[in-house]
Amino acid sequence: MMNIVKKSVKTMLDGLSLLFHMKPGSIIGYIFGSILHGFSWSIEILCMQLLFDSVYDWAAGEEEITKVWINLLILGISFIFSQVMNGAFNCYGQNCNLRVSRYLSDLLFDKIKEIPLTAFEDTEQLEQIEKAVNGGRILFWVSTTVLDIIFYYGTYFFIVGSYMIQLNPVLGFTLLLIFLPCILSKSVNYLIFEKKENLAASERRRMVCYEDFLTGLHFFKETRLLGAGKYFQKLHINSLKKLGKIEWQAQVSKGVIELILSIVTAVCYGLLLYLLFNSVLNHSISLGAFAAILGSLGRLYGNMNEIVSERIGWASENVASAGNFLNFIQKTETENREKQIGNFHKIDLNNLSFSYPGSSEPVVKNVNLSIQRGETLAIVGANGSGKTTLCRLIMGLYIPTTGEIQYDNISSSEINYTDISSVFQKYCRYEMSLRKNIEISDPYTGNPYSYSEKAGRTAGVQISMDTVLGRKFHGIDLSGGQWQRVAIARGIYRKHSLLILDEPTAALDPLEESRIYHMFQKISENKTAVIVTHRLALSRIADRIIVMKAGKIIQCGTFNELVQEDGEYRKMYMEQLKW
Ligand code: ADP
Repeated sequence: MMNIVKKSVKTMLDGLSLLFHMKPGSIIGYIFGSILHGFSWSIEILCMQLLFDSVYDWAAGEEEITKVWINLLILGISFIFSQVMNGAFNCYGQNCNLRVSRYLSDLLFDKIKEIPLTAFEDTEQLEQIEKAVNGGRILFWVSTTVLDIIFYYGTYFFIVGSYMIQLNPVLGFTLLLIFLPCILSKSVNYLIFEKKENLAASERRRMVCYEDFLTGLHFFKETRLLGAGKYFQKLHINSLKKLGKIEWQAQVSKGVIELILSIVTAVCYGLLLYLLFNSVLNHSISLGAFAAILGSLGRLYGNMNEIVSERIGWASENVASAGNFLNFIQKTETENREKQIGNFHKIDLNNLSFSYPGSSEPVVKNVNLSIQRGETLAIVGANGSGKTTLCRLIMGLYIPTTGEIQYDNISSSEINYTDISSVFQKYCRYEMSLRKNIEISDPYTGNPYSYSEKAGRTAGVQISMDTVLGRKFHGIDLSGGQWQRVAIARGIYRKHSLLILDEPTAALDPLEESRIYHMFQKISENKTAVIVTHRLALSRIADRIIVMKAGKIIQCGTFNELVQEDGEYRKMYMEQLKW
């Protein structure tokens, strides 16, 4: 149990130190606000005693009515002060959260940008990322719980507690008894909810995925045509049921523990009331103090419940999630990529093998290859033979499991992606204007407007540059072929000394495909290009062709050499010619 509390407090303090580091002014302001807020609530009880004592004295003829009015006014002012402080402090807290959130999301995205890309191929690491994103959203509130406890509730209970101890020490200590059961219950909740968060993350991702299949623009047409809606609905409901079960089990355990501890709290509360009556009957406290405490008991108990159930309780349920964010920020391995390939002379692939995370079977096996500057290399082979993976390795997106890739003397794990451009097989459809869709590939070069227009024309895009693409922001949707041309325009717009094209024309008609290949041939004249293609006839634009099968290079040569050689290339080429 102590370990859990220690771990939670450490997470909160770590979070706090991060927040302070980012926005010291906001955190100092939050502390001052908390003290004032706590003070504003606590002075009410003192003002109440003043008023009740003066009313009692006035009734006994020992005090003037003006004194009663003055004390009533003071109580009114203290009430207004506490209400104003409450509203102002809540607003300030929300504002701080918004300001800090900007920095937290920046921190998170900067980190995500630096983690190895293979992390996204690993379900477990994907879950860590999802948990970190969720944790980042609540880090501020979880961490400031410490500040609330120390400065807001601390100020309030210090003043009220001192007041009560000074009246009757036993009264003050009984207050503490009400706290203990609540603290106990919340620590247990932490355990329950940490387990729940771990169980729920993967199921939640699955559910969101099914939602996307059912409602996402890119999925729902096919889903409807296939009549697969009911199928996904069923899977969605199953996911919901599983999530519900996890949630229900956590809530039941939480409910039982809370019930038991609430009973203990109520007993302590009764004890406090008994002591209070006893003290006034013994004349150890004044009637005014008795009335003031009685009048404030509701607030006192409410505040205790709030601090334990709402603040500590909420924080204990969410501290695990906030911890995920901090862990991700502090511990996730990142890459250090600072070197540019510039105008390299050659790329050497030495004994290269690669397996995807979670799989021991390599999908690229012992590849040895040298690509000279200015060379155009085509990669062909059956589906699943490892062509795309090899391209990603050459670009440095994936790090080889064994072996290495060298750009002259620089390892592919050190290169940043400047000077490399690509048209991906699964390209992005950015829901932005056509111009931005193209310029996003080189956003900081400040090229003249005409550059992206030229890239668009070269790729055969025939719509206005300011047209918004995609439906999300009231734009127009494009055909698969049109989107592919946009992706090609994006690839050629980016300044590069290496161009990697992974099935760049799969959605284009044969005439357009042929035109685009000629264009590639022209633009890659003095540059290095790697082209993955299914159209063997078009691979003849390459200086050299490699044929892949089951992760290995099984043939390598020029078009003329390969069509004459009795091998896989010739077999595939003849098969395509037939059609
Ligand atoms: P190609 O481009 O030749 O069609 P890929 O490089 O895409 O082949 O895939 C090579 C092999 O790697 C295939 O067997 C595929 O199933 C596997 N593969 C591709 N992506 C992943 C991934 N993210 N995780 C695990 N295996 C993968």
